[in-house]
Amino acid sequence: MNVLGAVRNVGKLIYPPRCIGCDEVLAEEMRDSGICKACRPLIHPVKEPLCKKCGKQIYHGDRAYCMDCDTRPHVYMEGRGVFLYEGPMKQAMYRLKYGNRRGVAEVIAREALRNHGRWIASIQPEALVPVPIHRNKRIKRGYNQAEVMAQAISRQTGIPVVPLVERTVDTLPQKELTPEKRAKNLKNAFKVGKNGVKFKRILIIDDIYTTGATVDAMAGILLDRGIDEVYCLYGCIGQGY
Ligand SMILES: [Zn+2]
Ligand SMILES: [Zn+2]
Repeated sequence: MNVLGAVRNVGKLIYPPRCIGCDEVLAEEMRDSGICKACRPLIHPVKEPLCKKCGKQIYHGDRAYCMDCDTRPHVYMEGRGVFLYEGPMKQAMYRLKYGNRRGVAEVIAREALRNHGRWIASIQPEALVPVPIHRNKRIKRGYNQAEVMAQAISRQTGIPVVPLVERTVDTLPQKELTPEKRAKNLKNAFKVGKNGVKFKRILIIDDIYTTGATVDAMAGILLDRGIDEVYCLYGCIGQGY
């Protein structure tokens, strides 16, 4: 065994691999998947038919878009989600965000490739751009969960992680604002570094998709800076209607 292998094995003794869903220590044969037998049937990769805009799983294949995307236009081109945001994936995402469980990002990255590998290959993104968190939060938490996810996807695809966008405002007074004002407010919360212009197609990486307001705001400023096409990939997404 080489030195690296030995170090890795010592690491496994101190931190045995745990299920991303229930946090129990994994049986030997489940270690590669990262999900225990009990959680496996409760964790669902997003399946066709999908909303052709946001990527939510929808019930009827005869519809192109989910109800949200039918009524709300988006700035980004297309999005895809890896797992449905329900059951044990909710705890998994919480642990990724606050517990620094990088194993969650690894499981998401592997499933992203299985599920959306052809889609990623077809759009040929030149960079993976994580949704940023504000510096203060980053210092407090020590990492940005979207960036951890982006790095895991980068290891699987070879596409570089480029943190093009910064978050300039920590928390926003969003309540009591009209949707238009909220969108403007959000757009002002982001800033692009000057090397942003060299890319034509980028893939934004985020942990959870809700309304799409955040990725739309980011896509807006990236398009302003000369990027042609902005796509998004999320670890989890809700069921569409
Ligand atoms: Zn489990
Ligand atoms: Zn949609």
